Amino acid sequence: MSDFDLVIKNGRVVIPYIGVSEVDIGITNGKITAIESSIASGRAKEEINAAGKAVFPGAVDVHYHIGIYHPIEEDAENETRSSLVGGVTTVVSYFRSGSHYLERTGSYKELFPEVVNRTNGHSYTDFSYHIAIMENSQLDEIEWLVNQGVGSFKYFMFYKGMNLHGNSTDPKAMTMTDEPYDLGHLYKYMKKVKEMQDKYADKGRISLSLHCEHAELLRIFLEEAREKGIDGLQGYHEGRPALTEKLAIVEAGVLAKATGCPINFLHLSSKEAFETADEFRRFNPELDVRTETTLHHLSLTWETSYEPEGKTWGKVNPPIREKIDNDALWTAVQQGRIDQVVSDHACVDEENKGGLWEAYAGFGGTALLYPLMISDGHHKRGMKLEKIAELVAANPAQTVGLYPKKGTIAVGSDADLTIVDLDKEQKVTADILLSGQTFSNFEGYDIKGWPVITIRRGELMYKDGKVIGTTSGEFIKRPIGVHK
Ligand SMILES: [Zn+2]
Repeated sequence: MSDFDLVIKNGRVVIPYIGVSEVDIGITNGKITAIESSIASGRAKEEINAAGKAVFPGAVDVHYHIGIYHPIEEDAENETRSSLVGGVTTVVSYFRSGSHYLERTGSYKELFPEVVNRTNGHSYTDFSYHIAIMENSQLDEIEWLVNQGVGSFKYFMFYKGMNLHGNSTDPKAMTMTDEPYDLGHLYKYMKKVKEMQDKYADKGRISLSLHCEHAELLRIFLEEAREKGIDGLQGYHEGRPALTEKLAIVEAGVLAKATGCPINFLHLSSKEAFETADEFRRFNPELDVRTETTLHHLSLTWETSYEPEGKTWGKVNPPIREKIDNDALWTAVQQGRIDQVVSDHACVDEENKGGLWEAYAGFGGTALLYPLMISDGHHKRGMKLEKIAELVAANPAQTVGLYPKKGTIAVGSDADLTIVDLDKEQKVTADILLSGQTFSNFEGYDIKGWPVITIRRGELMYKDGKVIGTTSGEFIKRPIGVHK
């Protein structure tokens, strides 16, 4: 009888917070069961020789939108397939009641099981869901949701007067209810999440994530941009300027301080937003505050995002900004002042990416999570490999209550790994990303460093550009301490 199902030999193993070590990894029943300087050949049923390659923990892409513009089953299958390309083995996706998604509101006791059931059997990666509480009656379902495995929640600062695509100011456009969705709601929401965090404090983190853009300021800046007739992504950047992020961060921060609620400032897009969130955290060390940015906010500007004539592929909330913002965000991740990097993956059909004001917000990016961070972070900026693993795997896993089951390489952790050829050069084209999205606004982007094998719970899922695993991803309940 073999000691291991699979052994990965001779790789440079990248362990978050520790460093890079030339060790062999033994895997049994989907878990890492040995990390040794050398595991003799013959002790495993199967062996992978990773000589000359780096072995990273599978990335945990915690900002994701399964089912936002397509049926859940379709998105789950197409987009988690794309995740494997980027070395991602777990996705944590956002869901809310209201427009898009299931196009209805009501009780999460009815909605949530449907979301999980419709993802089950369709996901290549393991998956989990954050939930956004959109109306009063759902506040009473928060503890029920925690017991169903939802350890993180979301609030959108800009929904109280705006729709998703920035072309309507109907306050009900998103929630599909008459109930107020405002700072009053947020205050009650934060108190409830804080209550849950206190109750389950020794079992893991329960938090509230915030999309920070300010509805009332967006209204006037968007109006102005449309009147001026500025087109393309520059128009969107000017219509949703950094000032709106800043004010929303401050407002949310005041309420977090009043309630003690653990919070996450999502997708910081600008120098100004980062500095505001960073200052808030420094001046409130007693609070549990985490920060996030995205691949596109780090490495694209409204000028460099690939946009064919008449298209707005890179339209996203908050918008892609300028070089000064890229530079500030890269410095922040290098200094550890931004905790996590995500894709904010949302698959959009090309026909919904036409003119600026009609186009849907969002685009795919999960397949570039490790590639872009290794290329632009490690090769171009000299960031250490373990730092990259912290930003895309270990830190996000901690934020959402998945660590150390996910996000690291340790005995007892799930055997989620990606083997990366650090020297492989690759120009981005949509077809290699294996997504349902037929275009990429990273088209033509030069990458150095590309995953060659992705392994999820010990199963070989992706190899040399092809998916070889099945849609057997599992729903993971969080925080893991509550759901052992
Ligand atoms: Zn998002």
